[in-house]
Amino acid sequence: MIDGTERCREDGKEKRGSRAILAFPGVGCLSHWEWSSLLEAAGGVCNLDMASRTKRRLMAETEYDYLLVGGGLQSGLITLALRARHPETRIAIVERDDAIGGNHTWCFHAGDVSPRAAEWIAPLICHRWPGYVVRFPGFERRLDVEYSAITSDRMDQVVREAMEGRPGSRLFLGAEALRVERGAVHLAGGQALTAKVVIDARGPSRSDAGPRTAGFQKFVGLEVDLAEPHGLDRPVLMDAELDQAHGFRFMYVLPLTAQRLLLEDTYFHQSPDLDAEGIRAEIMAYAERKGYKVASLVRDEKGVLPMTWSGSLPERRPVGAIAAGFQGGWFHPATGYSLPIAARVADHIADRPLETIERQGLDELVPRQRSQSRFCHLLNRLLFRWYAPRSRRHIFERFYRLPMATVERFYALRLTWADRFRLLVGNPPRGFSPRYRLTESTDR
Ligand SMILES: Cc1cc2nc3c(=O)[nH]c(=O)nc-3n(C[C@H](O)[C@H](O)[C@H](O)COP(=O)(O)OP(=O)(O)OC[C@H]3O[C@@H](n4cnc5c(N)ncnc54)[C@H](O)[C@@H]3O)c2cc1C
Repeated sequence: MIDGTERCREDGKEKRGSRAILAFPGVGCLSHWEWSSLLEAAGGVCNLDMASRTKRRLMAETEYDYLLVGGGLQSGLITLALRARHPETRIAIVERDDAIGGNHTWCFHAGDVSPRAAEWIAPLICHRWPGYVVRFPGFERRLDVEYSAITSDRMDQVVREAMEGRPGSRLFLGAEALRVERGAVHLAGGQALTAKVVIDARGPSRSDAGPRTAGFQKFVGLEVDLAEPHGLDRPVLMDAELDQAHGFRFMYVLPLTAQRLLLEDTYFHQSPDLDAEGIRAEIMAYAERKGYKVASLVRDEKGVLPMTWSGSLPERRPVGAIAAGFQGGWFHPATGYSLPIAARVADHIADRPLETIERQGLDELVPRQRSQSRFCHLLNRLLFRWYAPRSRRHIFERFYRLPMATVERFYALRLTWADRFRLLVGNPPRGFSPRYRLTESTDR
């Protein structure tokens, strides 16, 4: 017996661990769980031939091509991308909740995803609009760019369909991953699963972003049925004709059906604290002002998304499992959103042979994500640290006066150097202008 903190070689691979690992010739390195199963299968008698055969059977049962830890947005998209390009891939998803996808409405612009990704994302889309409106005091713009929404329920349904009846694939729901490492995942309850590629996408709760390294986009959303049609033909992405005393604030309005709206009151703020009850009351007051007669509440959602100005960047050649999704730094720091980047990661994985992903992880994508994120860090630092809360809306107002192509590339996190320049300087003023900041400094 050797201690797992020492190195142990099997099939040319190195295994490390913090707990005891048993090693016998012809059997290789086994975890406690594997040994318990072996001894159980062998009636408690340690017959090495039998143990070896049983181990091979156990490994065959549990070895997947891809093992996705956390059944949220990132894992859902990777599953669909892999199914589209390599239908026979053996995939396992480990999710601690009883369903895939949590409780979100994920929206995105058509330009956020590649044309190939658009094909496998299509079954997820529940709502599609030809464009949207942004509204500020004294300025309104209709943007004609397709905007789509995915619900968690649809994600759950489509991912289940992609997994069910596929030989060698399995969905582990209500399964908590305790330890995630290269090639293996250890579940609460002692089960260990193995795969050629393990992808850790356990989501924002594992991110270390806090008030010292991030501001926050926080919101409460109420999906409501109305007594009468609302009359909106497209979403209002930002209605900033609201009190701005506590930082940039806007209402986000999605017309889901002729009489159903998702109303989301959104704040960009230094603190992650969310006064959900107070915000619900604000939403109902907004609905009344707009003449939306709320008949019933369908569902609600809330979120506190970090808008980081340092840290949370993806690493090259990570040790252990591949870190994907929000926790791996694969999100948009200046919107707090993930979908465009999660789709890019999924596309990247599905476009390459498994052996390449096993060897290189997401290395090829890292430099661009780091460069784009660093620029967004600068924007966030300026937004949250340079400007007084009530002045922040001007930055967004100016942003929405920029050419449509820049707006699209901003949301897709594909900013060119010209876009970056345009975002920071130039007319109209009152964007990230130092002169404006100085004149407004008494506003803090
Ligand atoms: C209400 C709301 C609305 C949003 N709207 C948008 C939007 O419109 N567009 C957009 O791009 N982004 C949006 N976001 C942000 C986006 O949802 C997240 O950034 C995104 O879901 C992150 O994807 P992920 O796969 O990394 O993590 P998640 O989607 O959070 O998935 C992580 C999963 O891992 C599971 N998990 C965690 N720990 C374990 C464990 N130990 N074992 C097993 N499972 C575990 C969790 O239960 C969860 O299901 C929204 C967020 C919220 C809260």
